[in-house]
Amino acid sequence: MAQSQHQPVECHRCGHNWEVDLSKLGKPNKVIFKNETNLPKETFSLKCPNCHTLNMLDLPLKEK
Ligand SMILES: [Zn+2]
Repeated sequence: MAQSQHQPVECHRCGHNWEVDLSKLGKPNKVIFKNETNLPKETFSLKCPNCHTLNMLDLPLKEK
């Protein structure tokens, strides 16, 4: 069964909703190893296809 890798994103500026394919994101902008929950996170910058504003997307770093 194929696992969906799509992450919904909402633009903070124009409210446009779209989906990104997590398998095509490539390298994160940065990886945060410590935060308030002590779980590592990856931060990606995604450009809104509607207004071209950069949106930051935080995802929990998945264990492999
Ligand atoms: Zn937008």
